Amino acid sequence: MNVLVINCGSSSLKFQLINSDTEQVLAKGLCERIGIDGSLTYQPEGGEKVKSDKPMPTHTEAIQYVIDALTDAGTGVVKSLDEIGAVGHRVVHGGEKFASSVVITDEVLQAIEECNDLAPLHNPANLIGINACQKLMPGTPMVAVFDTAFHQTMPEEAYMYGLPYEYYEKYKVRRYGFHGTSHSFVSKRAAEIVGKPYEELRTIVCHLGNGASICAVKNGRSVDTSMGLTPLEGLVMGTRSGDIDPAIMEFIAKKEGLDIAGLMNMLNKKSGVLGLSNNLSSDFRDLDAGAKEGNKQAAVALKVFAYRVAKYVGAYAAAMNGVDVIAFTAGVGENSGPVRADVLGYLGYLGIEVDEEANNTRGEEITISTPDSKVKVMVIPTNEELAIARETVALV
Ligand code: AMP
Repeated sequence: MNVLVINCGSSSLKFQLINSDTEQVLAKGLCERIGIDGSLTYQPEGGEKVKSDKPMPTHTEAIQYVIDALTDAGTGVVKSLDEIGAVGHRVVHGGEKFASSVVITDEVLQAIEECNDLAPLHNPANLIGINACQKLMPGTPMVAVFDTAFHQTMPEEAYMYGLPYEYYEKYKVRRYGFHGTSHSFVSKRAAEIVGKPYEELRTIVCHLGNGASICAVKNGRSVDTSMGLTPLEGLVMGTRSGDIDPAIMEFIAKKEGLDIAGLMNMLNKKSGVLGLSNNLSSDFRDLDAGAKEGNKQAAVALKVFAYRVAKYVGAYAAAMNGVDVIAFTAGVGENSGPVRADVLGYLGYLGIEVDEEANNTRGEEITISTPDSKVKVMVIPTNEELAIARETVALV
């Protein structure tokens, strides 16, 4: 079956058409500047990437252009819409309502909408994408795959905050966690690689991209993760602060005359390694280059990032009473040998021995610990689109 995977943002839409039998990507692309002017980047398998400007007042036009491109006589990869068996939609927040992916019905749409409060920037955009697809592909089954669902197995001691209980009761303020599709995909793959049952393995997945989170996966279930009610908590990220003393908010608000919106903007957009590097960059390639050229703040940013990751790995090894596998994934985790080496430099006490030559590789699935290492350490490229396609096929 061919599955169209859609990841819809407020002004952008990423898509892949995946043949679920061969798991091959038949075509992929991106619509940008929806609601502003509009452009479509489209690449069929083995073909050239083409970018064209198209008016996209709403997501409906964007999806229509995607369908046109996929079915085009020249560059298309299917003859008609009939060859698309299902659509899998990435949905950011499923709250406590969704512990797994679901086939989209009217009740599901309503329940997703009820989670809008928890992810006001993301869920409404995801819903717009679903509605637009339903309009243009009325007979095609659609599935929602949630970023939060995998983490619904966390125990209370991991998901409750030390706050008045009434906020949980009234507003469902708790840890939800994100990147669940990636953490699930990577931890399953880790079990395949080591050849042990998923249900018997303790894995720590380090999803280190522009957004970054860590997850403790014990016996096939997420038992803790570093992101919280929102994706702001946890690791130091590209532009997000991660964990800070909450009282810093009041202190800076008074000093800088910031309101809540100003504070949130600072914590989400101006902090992380971007802020630490004194605005050099949020991109680890620039930070690497800067540090090599003697930029002290770039070096500090890299050190703070790795130290925070190592602290979380230690915490999650404690939470699971040990760890069998540590897996690195996403842009930084897959590509940066130096960042992995810095993190692993703190973890010798776990009996980890790094194979430096293996660690000196980029973007490929590889074991980077020595055969004697007590914990297996791996690089496993994540593939959230494939994971969404698999979930979609399983449900339809
Ligand atoms: P993601 O959010 O998973 O797409 O990751 C994007 C981030 O990966 C970029 O902002 C870079 O910081 C990082 N990245 C990509 N390629 C490399 C590389 N070769 N070395 C270091 N970092 C990289």
